[in-house]
Amino acid sequence: MKPVAVVTGGTRGIGRAIARRLVAGGYDVVAASRHAPDIVEPGVRFIGCDVTDPASVRALFAVLGPRVDALVNNAGIAGANSLAADGDDALWHAILNTNLNGAYYCAKAALAKLPDGSGRIVNIASVLGLRGVADQTAYCAAKHGVVGFTRALALALAPRRITVNAVCPGWVAGEMAQGRFAELGITAAQAAASVPTGRLTEPEDVAEAVAFLLGPGAANITGHALPIEGGGLALP
Ligand code: NDP
Repeated sequence: MKPVAVVTGGTRGIGRAIARRLVAGGYDVVAASRHAPDIVEPGVRFIGCDVTDPASVRALFAVLGPRVDALVNNAGIAGANSLAADGDDALWHAILNTNLNGAYYCAKAALAKLPDGSGRIVNIASVLGLRGVADQTAYCAAKHGVVGFTRALALALAPRRITVNAVCPGWVAGEMAQGRFAELGITAAQAAASVPTGRLTEPEDVAEAVAFLLGPGAANITGHALPIEGGGLALP
């Protein structure tokens, strides 16, 4: 029987690339997000789920079989949140709820179905889980939270030999990064030029790292946050 992988937000962008890579790697892949995808990736089963709603997450795992080999917490939203005294708090809560609470709800629901000895969780954090950006206080808080959650959960699950790791992409070519470039008033080419390797991270770069962390070769790697960002964090 094929191993089962759940990829939240597996319908677009990075999540879709992860889902495609895991299908190629022999997984039975479930992509879970709020809206059905425009393009259905061959071999991927879509199940509607809002990761901010614990009942929706429980319902997702309830319809899956007794075994889920891998959970990829990828669903996320970003945005520059205001710190104005009379500003709206809605974006802060939405970013924390989706990126951090969503990963918690999904991990909690998956725990009973992850097999001892081989179960895997990979959380898609960000380089903003490792450093700060002034206008992204909510996103940085959420992604730092994801990295902290990864480290603690890795220790909690180590006796079961279930590994928990995070990946921390820099700018990934796609919709979310385009929105950020527009906010910053820069082009994708200018953004790429600021990366030591001279290019943006591609969704497939992230998908390869996730596939490695889910595979047998990473069985004793746990509690780590792996940057995938073309060397920016190595700069002085
Ligand atoms: P996209 O906006 O392209 O895709 C986000 C995915 O998450 C969609 O499938 C969306 O589906 C889903 N999603 C959003 N909210 C929810 C929710 N409440 N419940 C379930 N699914 C949800 O984002 P990216 O592919 O760019 O980003 C994927 C992950 O990578 C995110 O965690 C992001 O923070 C992280 N990341 C992205 C970077 C980038 O430059 N793009 C850089 C570093 C990290 P739907 O709307 O239908 O629910």
